[in-house]
Amino acid sequence: IWRSYATTSEKDKVAKFKGTKGSDGNYTVTLIEGDGIGPEIAQSVKNIFSAAKVPIKWESVDVTPIFKDGKQVIPDEAIDSVTRNYVALKGPLATPVGKGHVSLNLTLRRTFNLFANVRPCKSIAGYKTPYDNVDTVLIRENTEGEYSGIEHVVVDGVVQSIKLITREACERVLRFAFQYAQDVGKPKVRAVHKATIMKMSDGLFLSIAKEVSKEFPDVEFDAELLDNTCLKIVTDPAPYNDKVLVMPNLYGDILSDMCAGLIGGLGLTPSGNIGDECSIFEAVHGSAPDIAGKALANPTALLLSSIMMLQHMGLMEHADRIQNAIFKTLAEGKTITGDLGGKAKTHEYADAVIKNL
Ligand code: NAD
Repeated sequence: IWRSYATTSEKDKVAKFKGTKGSDGNYTVTLIEGDGIGPEIAQSVKNIFSAAKVPIKWESVDVTPIFKDGKQVIPDEAIDSVTRNYVALKGPLATPVGKGHVSLNLTLRRTFNLFANVRPCKSIAGYKTPYDNVDTVLIRENTEGEYSGIEHVVVDGVVQSIKLITREACERVLRFAFQYAQDVGKPKVRAVHKATIMKMSDGLFLSIAKEVSKEFPDVEFDAELLDNTCLKIVTDPAPYNDKVLVMPNLYGDILSDMCAGLIGGLGLTPSGNIGDECSIFEAVHGSAPDIAGKALANPTALLLSSIMMLQHMGLMEHADRIQNAIFKTLAEGKTITGDLGGKAKTHEYADAVIKNL
């Protein structure tokens, strides 16, 4: 279920897309440690991968924006690294509110055209939450919608933010969602929308969803209003387990955090940003400045994201071994972090996972 998939069947593209193996048998993967708790949770991933002898060499890059031609941009070395390696693992990056540099998360998604954000949401056996039966997948359009960054002041006291929806972006994310459902054996795709109000933008998304569904006769298709999905999924998540939910950008952002709440919180929810040329895997949560530097962070979401990454790269045995060790550690419940009700420090939890490998 943590698996993410290539969007193309062209063999050479898929091979590149899964990472580059050096002559020493190791893959090189770009690592963006990120801000706040990023370095602490990235260290846990590095320690666990090293203990599990995963054939990966990390290439750490800094994405702190620099000024170039009067604009703030991501340094070339970081862009070159992801372009060269095809696969990256990323810690959270803080975004200033209302002013300052543009979101680096958005910039990375746009730079590499990472059009589909895959967010599996699955209960973890042994870790007690109000529901123990959640097993759905959200796929969020990742490049446009309300996140297009087109905003301006009309007159004093009146601003406009433009929600941009294009046929091209809708088609590719919807096709990806249907292909993903088919590949992971989910029989249904449901488009989540607000076409009752956003008649043109969500209307276009919905009509393209219906068109694309015809290309996948083996996958059932239906649609649901976003507010209705929110109410129903927190009331009873089980009917969503046979579905992949696909939606425009902002809805995916919000709904996936809500679903994270169903399985025990942001500390447990991974994601993959998938493009045609490369992919960046990251936790759903942010940089958690309130707990940064205190060894209180739960590294599980980034670890599960790194497992999605290993599956994406075809390193299934390593993925299974580490995933089983994580689930065992969580189910034992002795060495878990504060957000899950435990007392363990970040590194103590990582050490417990290593013991369970
Ligand atoms: P957040 O996800 O950082 O934190 C929300 C709450 O969850 C906090 O109480 C935090 O302590 C807790 N939390 C989050 N991750 C945790 C973990 N691994 N272990 C334990 N507790 C955890 O959200 P926020 O506070 O709204 O955002 C902080 C910054 O992160 C902002 O600058 C925001 O823009 C950025 N952000 C980045 C990303 C990303 O890089 N993809 C995603 C979301 C937010």
